Amino acid sequence: MLSAPSGAGKTTLAEQLVRRDRRLARSVSVTTRAPRPGEHQGRDYHFVTRRQFQRYRSSQALLEWARVHGHWYGTRRAPIERALKAGRDILLTIDVQGAAQVKRRCPEAILLFVRPPDFATLRRRLVGRHTETPAAIVRRLRVARRELRCARWYDEAVVNDRLTVAVRRVRAIIRAARRRGTRT
Ligand code: 5GP
Repeated sequence: MLSAPSGAGKTTLAEQLVRRDRRLARSVSVTTRAPRPGEHQGRDYHFVTRRQFQRYRSSQALLEWARVHGHWYGTRRAPIERALKAGRDILLTIDVQGAAQVKRRCPEAILLFVRPPDFATLRRRLVGRHTETPAAIVRRLRVARRELRCARWYDEAVVNDRLTVAVRRVRAIIRAARRRGTRT
């Protein structure tokens, strides 16, 4: 499970990881946030209405959920169970609240925190991606400060300074977990 503040680079990291590891599958979350330019329904997220999200929640279809930056996000249970049954490991890229819920339900899951090299880099990445309004950036940075303080509850932490180095480190963590028989 990867958690990181917005702008720490966890999406790119997750893409690189699944590309290099056939046993690893990425979970596609449901969210009530609107798609950003370039994002696709079913690939980046399942974009749903608040009502649909509520229906998922009340029918126990979600393994975890959280409100992040004013929107709802959640992980559907069924695709995860199917993938695990097929012998795959699942990569969840979710926030710290969701990560805590998954760890409670699946103690064998590995919590991996992706850190930006420093706060200034985080701000630069968020501003540079031109996907958020200035108000949304301020909110994401505020949440990021809070999330960074949660890093100490995680099983592992990786600094995403150079992507290739971070990918290598996470792959080593996954390999070690597989040897121990735990889940990613
Ligand atoms: P973004 O809107 O930038 O794609 O994601 C915002 C935050 O929501 C990120 O911290 C991301 O990890 C988190 N997130 C994405 N999907 C889920 C999910 O299914 N559950 C939870 N709890 N957080 C999620």
